[in-house]
Amino acid sequence: MSSSPLKKGTYPLDGIVDNLKSGCQERVSPLFQQAARRVRLFDRAGMESLRKELKLDPHVVRKWRNKLLKHFVTDAEASGGMPGADRVDLHSLELVRRFDSDIDGATKLLLRTAGGLMIEAVILRVASGRTSLCLSSQVGCAAACDFCATGKMGIARNLSPDEILDQLLIAGQLLAPEKRRIRNIVFMGMGEPFHNEANLFSTLDALLAPDIFHHPPSKILVSTVGVPAAMLRCAERFPLVNLALSLHSVCQDVREKLIPLARSYPLDQLRETVLEINAKTSAPLMIEYLLLAGYNDSLADARDLIRWLNGLRVHVNLIPYNAIAESPHLRGSDRATREYFASTLKAAGIKTTIRYSLGQDIAAACGQLVKNENRRRAIN
Ligand code: SF4
Repeated sequence: MSSSPLKKGTYPLDGIVDNLKSGCQERVSPLFQQAARRVRLFDRAGMESLRKELKLDPHVVRKWRNKLLKHFVTDAEASGGMPGADRVDLHSLELVRRFDSDIDGATKLLLRTAGGLMIEAVILRVASGRTSLCLSSQVGCAAACDFCATGKMGIARNLSPDEILDQLLIAGQLLAPEKRRIRNIVFMGMGEPFHNEANLFSTLDALLAPDIFHHPPSKILVSTVGVPAAMLRCAERFPLVNLALSLHSVCQDVREKLIPLARSYPLDQLRETVLEINAKTSAPLMIEYLLLAGYNDSLADARDLIRWLNGLRVHVNLIPYNAIAESPHLRGSDRATREYFASTLKAAGIKTTIRYSLGQDIAAACGQLVKNENRRRAIN
């Protein structure tokens, strides 16, 4: 099956498959038994048993998978002439709409799960020619950060590895006709990746696996608001994958206001965690710092940050703020303040960049697009 991203409601066999798993085969008609032997593209064991059942040469299957996952050909092109391709579900998400920025190279993808939940993925075409993809790891987020539209939604559920990987497959297929390849993969979309740790790690396994995406680990970045034990496990298991900590303030009170989850993980513990990760990995850990007027952007704030970072191997990324309606009390720092803050850090010897925000005209803030779409549907 699947010659294009799945349409909502194409999973009539879910209950049947559950029955098969729980040993209730006798209640399933022969017709459904045959239909239930479908496999998902990223289910390695299922794909292997389908290959054996159809007596296909492993080399043929490998070539087929490479066409799709490394060259991002269309579903039709990948499946044409491939025996058994009609038994493989290529997608677990449906592309609902794409929003292309008129002012820069950002494209937001609005995607729907089989159960009808909306998520986003964002393609960023940087002027240098590099292309990045921002992935979502959850539907909503429990971290409830005050500056984040996703955080205001609450959490619906974790995304499965298939659903996370399909964001890459769909984006790769959209970019292939432009002769563009996704170079950087960042987990900065909807969700706190370490609240979905097991699925995140399975996803990273598949991204790195030579027979699946074979993406270089140094071009993958997992961004977190700070879940120390999970960050350490990630650094141990994937030492070449980059980590980013959304710090935003080194004053515990201010940080807790911005990131309620910070109450569980004090700044001292986070600093110890960064130190430990520095000892396990070679790349500097990225520190993300959203610049908010009157909250964390004074000279004193910059000096406190310099002190906190002393002795850590980090790269600071200062982030301009995309305002959200739910938090009218938060405003982004002006350009002069951003530049002054950056130059203060640089003068102290800290590697610092200011992130250039793409997609200002297409609801660039994380979760904004899903929120707008839900509102549109509620009104119509
Ligand atoms: S910033 Fe990240 S962790 Fe915080 S609420 Fe938004 S998605 Fe969740």
